Amino acid sequence: ISSKLPNVPTSIFTVMSKMAAEYNAINLSQGFPNFESDPKLISLVSEAMQEGHNQYAPMPGDLRLREVISNKIRELHHHAYDPNTEITITAGATQAIFTAIAATISRGDEVIVFTPAYDCYEPTVQLFGGKTIAVQLEAPSYSPDWKKVKAAVSNRTKMIIINSPHNPSGMLFSESDMLELEKIALENDILVISDEVYEHIIFDGQVHQSAARFEKLAKRTFITASFGKTFHNTGWKIGYCVAPEALMKEFQKVHQFNVFCVNHPIQKALAIYMENSETYLGLSAFYQKKRDYFLSLLKDSRFKIIPSKSTYFQLLDFSEISNETDITFTERITKEEGLAMIPTSVFNKNKEDFKQIRVCFAKTDKTLEAAAKVLSAL
Ligand code: PMP
Ligand code: GLN
Repeated sequence: ISSKLPNVPTSIFTVMSKMAAEYNAINLSQGFPNFESDPKLISLVSEAMQEGHNQYAPMPGDLRLREVISNKIRELHHHAYDPNTEITITAGATQAIFTAIAATISRGDEVIVFTPAYDCYEPTVQLFGGKTIAVQLEAPSYSPDWKKVKAAVSNRTKMIIINSPHNPSGMLFSESDMLELEKIALENDILVISDEVYEHIIFDGQVHQSAARFEKLAKRTFITASFGKTFHNTGWKIGYCVAPEALMKEFQKVHQFNVFCVNHPIQKALAIYMENSETYLGLSAFYQKKRDYFLSLLKDSRFKIIPSKSTYFQLLDFSEISNETDITFTERITKEEGLAMIPTSVFNKNKEDFKQIRVCFAKTDKTLEAAAKVLSAL
């Protein structure tokens, strides 16, 4: 058959996790914790099943969970989303992003993305006939250059996709970045997807500048988020999307035929669990400790390291260790040294000469110690 996505390879996360299993390597590649979710949350899921919440949830999701999300955003970002009309529970952020793009992007539309970019944006835009225009974030700061963004805008620009906290760099958009984005979106009538899956993993006392905090920006933005990152259960595939009513109406037209609704007992459990805000507000401190421990173990390594500002990823610059491409380097280290990591060139349009690899530090201290031993010996 003629492919709709002829140039799309198998995702790097599948490739590297498969290679890690094949070579019995420590897996710091695909981003997921190797420790368990809170047993209390797991019990709440099984209680919800025993109580009989085993049939379809309402199409937009369990109302109590939507209310909890609305309250959380109001408290943290001072913006009130109506749980009845402006929130949908999704099968992870991936489905939220897919659905928002499906609902808005048509043939010929242009969508600005920042590279390095998470891998699902471009193929999804292409699937609906759109074209991505890449704006490169430059190492080592990975801060956006708004002059480049303005130059990338054309009369076909329908959407800008941002991702802060940023995978893979750990960069955070500042308040002034968000104000620049708001201005460009308003002046050019552009929609925004703000992929905020790492919203609760922010280090060194910084504040997550959610699109919800910016009144005029929020009016044209789909915010997408993921419980998998926040509650250490990426395999549950539950997330959410919030957007103003007019956008959410279009989103739900697609959602109802995409999945209709998602896992009901997990939604019931999350609604109860998240009523205690400590369940997510403690996450930044938890991961900051892991980052600091991991970096202390790497202090004598030959990698050049700028501490990650957010997310559970750390970039390592290997330019003083090897002249190989990042793909050759990561393959060799997986096979010969038993440690899998992610080459970052795959997140970039221009695949030349990236000397940065990404490691996930959402791992037990024991795993981090074993990985650091390998990395320090390179
Ligand atoms: N966006 C980014 C930036 C991610 O890193 C991920 C996944 N790790 C997702 C979206 C997808 O999230 P989910 O697993 O909830 O679909
Ligand atoms: N988002 C995860 C990462 O960046 C992977 C998710 C996936 O495997 N699709 O590693």
